Amino acid sequence: MSVRKASGPGRWQGVEIHEYKQAGSAPFREVSRQVLFSDPALAAQWRYFEVAPGGHSTLERHEHMHAVMILVGQGMCLVGDALHALAPHDLVHIPPWTWHQFRATEDSALGFLCLVNAERDRPCLPGEADLAELRKDQRIAAFIRT
Ligand code: MN
Repeated sequence: MSVRKASGPGRWQGVEIHEYKQAGSAPFREVSRQVLFSDPALAAQWRYFEVAPGGHSTLERHEHMHAVMILVGQGMCLVGDALHALAPHDLVHIPPWTWHQFRATEDSALGFLCLVNAERDRPCLPGEADLAELRKDQRIAAFIRT
């Protein structure tokens, strides 16, 4: 289909809404996933994730990069050792092997586009030593959800 019309903010006709990840496979809360573009002839996939108010994505890292544009709502992200407030149209680059996590605010969803390699490695979750390192920074300790 050449054109799939938007049916609302972060919603498109003919695009299925999935759970972000398989339940129990990794820690997360209240996140949906939609695949906007995925074609074998394209080396990338373009997805849309929506974190419900108070929800969060998985704290993870991996070899592949993310190129993110915030589309809807308000939230915060951890990228490496920095926390950032997020608003629509902000761009977030997550380099290889960099810890990252997205959270929506308590009263607003956070929706974002995320570009990735079609073929990519699986995310790694933090171990106790990684968490101890991250938690040396009190602001990060207060932010992360595991
Ligand atoms: Mn990731």
